[in-house]
Amino acid sequence: MALAFPFGTICLCLRWEQDRRFIQDFWVVCLDGSLACHKVIVNVVSYRLADAAFHFSRGRFAPTPSGPLHFGSLVAAVSSFLHARSRGGEWFVRLEDVDRSRVVPGAADAILRLLEDYGLEWDGPVMVQSERGDVYRAALDALIATGAVYSCGCSRKEIADSHYNGRRESVYPGTCREGLPPGRVSRSLRVRTAGVMVAFDDLLQGRICQTLDADVGDFVVSRSDQSFTYHLAMVVDDAAQGITDVVRGADLLGSTPRQIHLQRLLGLSTPTYAHVPVAVNARGEKLSKQAHAEALTGHRPAAMLWAALQFLRQAPPDEIARADVAAVWQWALANWRLDAVAGIVTATAP
Ligand SMILES: [Zn+2]
Repeated sequence: MALAFPFGTICLCLRWEQDRRFIQDFWVVCLDGSLACHKVIVNVVSYRLADAAFHFSRGRFAPTPSGPLHFGSLVAAVSSFLHARSRGGEWFVRLEDVDRSRVVPGAADAILRLLEDYGLEWDGPVMVQSERGDVYRAALDALIATGAVYSCGCSRKEIADSHYNGRRESVYPGTCREGLPPGRVSRSLRVRTAGVMVAFDDLLQGRICQTLDADVGDFVVSRSDQSFTYHLAMVVDDAAQGITDVVRGADLLGSTPRQIHLQRLLGLSTPTYAHVPVAVNARGEKLSKQAHAEALTGHRPAAMLWAALQFLRQAPPDEIARADVAAVWQWALANWRLDAVAGIVTATAP
């Protein structure tokens, strides 16, 4: 067998068991280009590997169990799944329930059942944010120890009344940056952003640059009720799951620089980002519970997957809408092209 790899290249064959990965055997490319297989004969348990050390695609889908999945969430799930799986990678599910006020009882189970109906099989255990307070606390302590965060005594209303950056989000004016004003108690911890510029290359949306202090201001990572914000939890969890490729909706593009800043402060590696188009309704509103998006039911899953692939500009053949779910995935994995949606920020849902 002729191979494109040079003499001496070692290929690892990996085996996944519960939450561990082992080397099963390895292959060495010989001088004539053929492959020699070597079984790992030592106790494989001693070969437990640091997953992050591999350039191995690991993606994730991280829904908030605030209600049923809708078409927009299916697009995020399908695109992250195909991006990881089409390269032989792994795909994880995480329930982002760190904001308990948004959680609807029963929604988490319904989401997982629906993913199964759609043939979106995940690796490893499902990560649940509400069970990880200690981990977020440790990350917060690390930020406190380096002086990267400070106490803020301002109420949300005071900040909303300050000034705007011309978009929807208000920018924190820095009132408490040099210490709490007299008579104030700490309501939250904010990350310092003075002089921080973050630039990254999104696989779909190109180069994104943000001057954090001017564009978003010092942002909250923890509130006085001991809760943690989405940014902190997400960054810590992506690192814990060894995520290498984040594929998600373009509505999160603007929050990515804050998350990259947190990764740098915590010494975590930054994954590759690809922000796919956000599904909007006929009025141009993002599909959401607030915008009365239709809930997915799991009825006719192949037709719904076909619609998601069509939304992602994959040009799926008509017949797979009537095929079984396995046939849809077989076609989609063989034909997946992430760059079909390059530069598209919103698209109308069917
Ligand atoms: Zn303040």
